[in-house]
Amino acid sequence: MKDFLLAATLLIQQPNFKESLEACIEEGLQNTQEDETERNLDILKSHGLAELGKFEASRINVNYYITASAQNIIDTGNFDIQGESFSLDRFLDFIEDKFRNNIGYFQDIANRRNINELHLVIEDFGEERANNISVAIINTRIIKIDVRRWHKLYLGRRQYLANLTSIHEFTHINNYILDNDEVKLHRELSAIIFESLSYIKNEGEQAYIHAYLRNVAGNLESPENILNEEYSGMVPLRHLAHYFIENIINGGYAVEGNKIEKLEDFAYSYLADSENGDKGFDDACLAMGIKDSNNNRITLEKVRNDLYQQLRE
Ligand SMILES: [Zn+2]
Repeated sequence: MKDFLLAATLLIQQPNFKESLEACIEEGLQNTQEDETERNLDILKSHGLAELGKFEASRINVNYYITASAQNIIDTGNFDIQGESFSLDRFLDFIEDKFRNNIGYFQDIANRRNINELHLVIEDFGEERANNISVAIINTRIIKIDVRRWHKLYLGRRQYLANLTSIHEFTHINNYILDNDEVKLHRELSAIIFESLSYIKNEGEQAYIHAYLRNVAGNLESPENILNEEYSGMVPLRHLAHYFIENIINGGYAVEGNKIEKLEDFAYSYLADSENGDKGFDDACLAMGIKDSNNNRITLEKVRNDLYQQLRE
């Protein structure tokens, strides 16, 4: 948040901004954070971010902006790696394509719209880019994306990450609206389940089962962290989500009907519930009729224990 406030200094007028701001507040979203949205849209406005353009994704109006420091990186070609000749148009097309596809997939799963507008801000995360490709600002409809990390993706490095980060952050934006006071562990776990579904959709079930942990999750150094009931980092949560999803695909955790469709229904049910903590996950499992081989219902506590057991064997 602070970085974001400091970063934006371009002074370019946006004649339609006020109207779009008002439309967004008016139309949107009964149970939501109108005040927060207004406050943050005012931040965008007061810093006069350059509006680069807009596109529509599944009837959501996406506006995108660039900060002065990110524009400077583009102008000077100060990227982490140099590619063939850089084209801003192709770069923006790439970003648009990834967000459009993944917003579309999210909307298909949700089968409804929770927001009408989304704002993407191309930024310079500085050293923080080692840890983040994109960041959703809490209780807003604003996603910041790092210019140099996205430039690498644009050059073709680990393209699956562009899909993952798009749907992951878009899931957070919806989560702030649907389940505003959820704890961090479940915010992240639900976003990870959506990114996993996107990975399966784009790379296939087998790639998810065999490559996601290596490519995305990273090494789980302390298996005990699986058992944590409070957030202790992304690595154990990605291993936990992977274990759960792999078991559904392989039949270790049984569901009736199409497994991926069931997982999609599970994902939205878990995301949109207003329960906090494990209960949201457990209720979604119950609603989807997810059972183990002894016909017992699945709970997150059981998934934690099952995985921990497997890791110790
Ligand atoms: Zn996240």
